[in-house]
Amino acid sequence: MKIIVHRGTNQIGGSCIEICTEQARIIFDVGEELPNKFQPEREKKLLIVDDLFINSKTTDKKIDGIIISHNHGDHIGLIDSTKEDIPLFIGKISADVHNTICDFTSKGKKIKAHKYLEHEKPFNIKDIIITPFLVDHSAYDSYAFLIENNSKRILYTGDFRTHGAKGKLTEWFYKNPKINNADVLLIEGTNLYKENYIAETEIHLGKRAEEFMQQTKGNIFVLQSSANIDRLVQIYKAAKQTNRLFLVDIFSANILAQMPSSIPNPKTFKDVKVFYPYWLTQRLFNEENKSSLANKFSKYKLEKSELKHRNDLCILVRESMLSDIKKNMNYSESSVIYSKWEGYKTDEKVESFLNFFRKNNCVIESIHTSGHADTNTIKDFIKHSNPKKIIPVHTETPKKYVELFGNIVVEIKDGVEYSL
Ligand SMILES: [Zn+2]
Ligand SMILES: [Zn+2]
Repeated sequence: MKIIVHRGTNQIGGSCIEICTEQARIIFDVGEELPNKFQPEREKKLLIVDDLFINSKTTDKKIDGIIISHNHGDHIGLIDSTKEDIPLFIGKISADVHNTICDFTSKGKKIKAHKYLEHEKPFNIKDIIITPFLVDHSAYDSYAFLIENNSKRILYTGDFRTHGAKGKLTEWFYKNPKINNADVLLIEGTNLYKENYIAETEIHLGKRAEEFMQQTKGNIFVLQSSANIDRLVQIYKAAKQTNRLFLVDIFSANILAQMPSSIPNPKTFKDVKVFYPYWLTQRLFNEENKSSLANKFSKYKLEKSELKHRNDLCILVRESMLSDIKKNMNYSESSVIYSKWEGYKTDEKVESFLNFFRKNNCVIESIHTSGHADTNTIKDFIKHSNPKKIIPVHTETPKKYVELFGNIVVEIKDGVEYSL
């Protein structure tokens, strides 16, 4: 087998890895680069892969499959420009969430999977056997992979951690005898640049959120990604413990509708209700075939008068909803939970959102943890899985892997073939 990391040996995001044999070519992830705004020193690197994109050079060795580890933009963001006849493999919930995001943002095309990935269910693409394993990450339905051909075995972790709600999944993966002593481990190292970093668990974060909510008299506004389900569950639990009604907008309601029934959602949880942000709702009714996305939750709507006067709500919000908050919600004596990466605070929209609350004497509390493994988790991963070689990906500090694990670490460059 051969490995070509088309992008990711020296950067976070924009991942694209090819694994091929004489017969087959498989692409793992087709990521878009993260916004340069937050890494201004790094130049954008064009992703050139023969036969992958609509405008790529065509050779006589077609690509046999695109496999998406999870639906974060830095792993799926370029899917729209890939050739349509390449079979696509992705988790079902992952695909459904991606398609819901497409519905609401009007950017990007919906995807259609050739086959859905299932935990520990191997499948073949020509002479390569792929086994997906669910892992813990901030995107729901994220997979790592065992990739086999003849007697050779490669592992690709995708993005992972153990400090989320499904940490055990990652642990079961790296302790699974099937993956032990692989020839090559392609492993992410997002957090390795942080010295002595120990990630806070989602459960601990939930407790902090609960304490914070306890101290707040008025409503709680939570600024977080609607697709970060682990976080949403922790926030919901904290709201429940502090007798607050959990309020989500129509977009989040549609995301939650894709989840298993154990995840809080307006249809089956009495303490979860829906609100309709003005501009978003207008757009749904103005665009063709989209009004059903709004209508299907109308039964679970929190009435306008309640929205205006209640002060026992925990409301999931986005920066774009500021005008709805000003006009239709009660923000006196309220607080904000900022539950995203600190770096986004320099974004203009985020800044003016937070400034509004500051001006109104609301406390803003940062309650967030990483979607990626800390150094101790990576050490445990390597200790238990015991790979013969390590190729770091999704990291700006591949050298750190060399420091930690010595000469089993292979440093390769983007686009250069590695044979095993
Ligand atoms: Zn990523
Ligand atoms: Zn990710």
